[in-house]
Amino acid sequence: MLLSVVIPVLNEAETIPLMLERLRGALRGRTWEVLFVDDGSTDATPDILEQAAFADQRVKLLRFTRNFGHQAAVTAGLDFANGDAVVVMDADLQDPPELLPRMLALFEEGYDVVSPQRVSREAETMFKRWTSALFYRTLSRIADRPITPDVGDFRLFSRRAVIAIRSLREQHRYMRGMVAWLGMKEAILPFERRARAAGKTNYPLLRMLRFGWTAISSFSAFPLRISIAAGCILSGAGFLYLLRVVYMALWTTTLVPGWASVVALQCAFSGMILLALGGIGDYLARTYEEAKQRPLYVVTEVCNIATPQRSLPRAVILANQVTPAPISIDEFERPRRIAEEIPSYEPLARARG
Ligand code: UDP
Ligand code: MG
Repeated sequence: MLLSVVIPVLNEAETIPLMLERLRGALRGRTWEVLFVDDGSTDATPDILEQAAFADQRVKLLRFTRNFGHQAAVTAGLDFANGDAVVVMDADLQDPPELLPRMLALFEEGYDVVSPQRVSREAETMFKRWTSALFYRTLSRIADRPITPDVGDFRLFSRRAVIAIRSLREQHRYMRGMVAWLGMKEAILPFERRARAAGKTNYPLLRMLRFGWTAISSFSAFPLRISIAAGCILSGAGFLYLLRVVYMALWTTTLVPGWASVVALQCAFSGMILLALGGIGDYLARTYEEAKQRPLYVVTEVCNIATPQRSLPRAVILANQVTPAPISIDEFERPRRIAEEIPSYEPLARARG
């Protein structure tokens, strides 16, 4: 049985050697491949990955022309993975490789999706934990299908599940929603999510908010419909108020002071209208982007990967095979050596001439 590990990477030069070492340790005695998808890194990441791939055939590499985003990188990884089971995980060791054997055991029991669920979130700020809890709660209320809470993109998929996911080629991608949508047999495995091994998150607040909105708008039309409900309630209230005004004008001598209520209503209604228009505009923009049917990613180089025979919809593969530079393989055979040498990076650059 072949296990593929898909790892999207953006500027993770410091963590990759550690990651590989722990992966090798965790998967000793098994047949595996690891597929790094370099999502337009600008640091030493591409060279480190290349060296690792030259030293070990099981390390495979896809390189994007630019940063297409984490979800596109995961998509490419799933497109090229050959395994009977495929695991997607972060490069930063927040998802522990030591959990893989337990995930594989569940896969062997017949589950199509194994989802490690974060029970503790070490080193995450209170703010992140609270907003994330609130987000999952809201999403599970309004999404078309219930999305498993506290499960990130760290997951194991059976080959069947991967084939099914590959067929979903939408532009605004939210993998967790797609898994829920597929509804395949899922096992949940609690685990403790660690702090990053090194470096800093690629998901700052604004990006996180955008990602959250992608999740909602891709898997729920609730925000579009909410304006209908709000519109009904407000126009109902407005109509009742109108009755009162007519009554006062005909049967009382009270002067309608008017000004304050008109201004207040004006503000409330214009606000609501703008909000609803904004929401509709966003869905429209997404429909427009979807209608263009643009590719999801462009691969410029590959290493240790045969270009797939099947055609991949919505993907551009300009795959140049990167061939090993004339370096002594012995130098890199032992994983520990890679871990020791690569952070310094200098000797490698020299070795490659
Ligand atoms: N990543 C990526 N492209 C991006 C952003 C992130 O490939 O545009 C990778 C990143 O290198 C990491 C994973 O996706 O392996 C998750 O990102 P990160 O750890 O920064 O997110 P967090 O865990 O903080 O939510
Ligand atoms: Mg991370």
